[in-house]
Amino acid sequence: MSREAKMTETLAKRAGSIAQGKVWANLIDGEAVPAASGKLLDLICPSDGQAFCQIARSTKPDVDEAVAAARKAFEGRIWSRMTATQRGRCLSRLALLVDEHHEELAALESRDTGKPLRQADADITMAARYFEFYGGAADKIMGDTIPMLDGFTALTLREPHGVVGSIVPWNYPAQIGARVIGAALAMGNCLVIKPAEEACLSILRMAELADEAGIPPGVLNVVTGHGEEAGSALSGHPGIDFLTFTGSPTVGTLVQKAAADNHVGTTLELGGKSPQILFEDADLQEAMPVVTNAIIQNAGQTCSAGSRLLVHQSLWDAVEEQLITRFNALTADRHDRDADLGPLISSGQADRIDSFMQLAADRDIPVLAAGSVASDAPDGGFYAAPTLFGPVPNSHPLAQDEIFGPVLSMIPFRDEQEAIDLANGTPFGLVAGVWTRDAARSMRMARAVRAGQVFINGYGAGGGVELPFGGFKKSGHGREKGMASLLDMSALKTIIMKHG
Ligand code: NAD
Repeated sequence: MSREAKMTETLAKRAGSIAQGKVWANLIDGEAVPAASGKLLDLICPSDGQAFCQIARSTKPDVDEAVAAARKAFEGRIWSRMTATQRGRCLSRLALLVDEHHEELAALESRDTGKPLRQADADITMAARYFEFYGGAADKIMGDTIPMLDGFTALTLREPHGVVGSIVPWNYPAQIGARVIGAALAMGNCLVIKPAEEACLSILRMAELADEAGIPPGVLNVVTGHGEEAGSALSGHPGIDFLTFTGSPTVGTLVQKAAADNHVGTTLELGGKSPQILFEDADLQEAMPVVTNAIIQNAGQTCSAGSRLLVHQSLWDAVEEQLITRFNALTADRHDRDADLGPLISSGQADRIDSFMQLAADRDIPVLAAGSVASDAPDGGFYAAPTLFGPVPNSHPLAQDEIFGPVLSMIPFRDEQEAIDLANGTPFGLVAGVWTRDAARSMRMARAVRAGQVFINGYGAGGGVELPFGGFKKSGHGREKGMASLLDMSALKTIIMKHG
């Protein structure tokens, strides 16, 4: 048996039963703290719909306590007055600890979110990489000197906002949690993070490891619970200096309104309806596996999923044939069987996919292919078969709305201008993929498409620790990942000295 197969076997065993019956507390000021109300929430494994452990159901008093702890740590200046190199070293140690606990974290992530083992495995590798990246970046943020009048010297510094509040979703808890924690802490902020009530265990566990890595108490606090309770208490908290939110546009609006009431800045990472554009000279052999993976990765529950496929009309038949073969062969199954895709996160998400299927049927939009759900997948799980539709009118909800499931819409185009119009013809602008061997056209397209990231002859749904990531239009504002995140996680101070 290969090393990889053996690793998958042990990981599968662990992911089948990990955290069974465990009760998780909040992490506040370096301590495990139950919700003040004593209330708990069940965490449901999406593979079988069964509760397997419990988390704290936090409300305003818990958020108050976490914000106070972060404020105390910030004002005490233990963290912000450490040298940037020392902060970086703590984050680098955390990267090593995440690596050391890789299998445990991957098993937790897989059971908690329902994602297949190899995806959870990749996500934990990425989480460690975020800590490594921001650990290394902490002492490489520099200011400018500004030429001014004779007798003056002016310079800029990047300083932490203070206490950052962060609300993150359930689809990539480890990766999104790590990128927020890494960037916020590298800049010297103290953080209160509210993960999603559907999946949050990897964040809780990484926060425990942060303590081992030497990150002082109060610098990183985790409060779990419902969005309407813990989430809204955090976004509206007057003790927060900056808010980062990743999630749905609807909740993003609420968070931004709350931030406006407190006059604090935000970064919002919202949804997408990202196109992949196949021109007549595209390398189909290379493109087809990437196109397929970009919509089934995480069962399509990826903000940057490639959910629209714009196909030059001359290629339509060939692409249709190849994708039908690929989609028909796909199987959804429980997380620990490491199938092509796992279940959706919840019954609510499964109902959402069903409602789009109905909308497609109402307009007679052809189903070109559908994969299957494993016949012995547990009855209580939230499974959806991957589905390929086409041709889909660009005005239909299938092409306009973020479905957040394994549903790909094929849309034909005649020429470059029509491809641009279609690519830009939704409210979103997160990621795009352009497939062509014509270098000049690829750059024209990259400039014309309004999206935060444009891949040429490739596609990275969610990937790229080093790459600034964020939206145009209704996909949000501000940037996470890469060095760009450090700019958003800090405030610019200008110092002007008259020295004669
Ligand atoms: P969601 O907006 O319902 O939840 C996200 C987070 O917000 C959760 O922690 C939730 O508890 C919290 N929340 C819910 N109601 C709240 C409220 N009233 N006040 C404060 N917080 C509240 O989104 P979701 O269903 O968890 O995630 C799916 C959405 O997130 C999709 O639209 C997807 O595109 C988007 N998303 C975007 C990115 C990105 O980086 N752009 C990444 C992942 C997910």
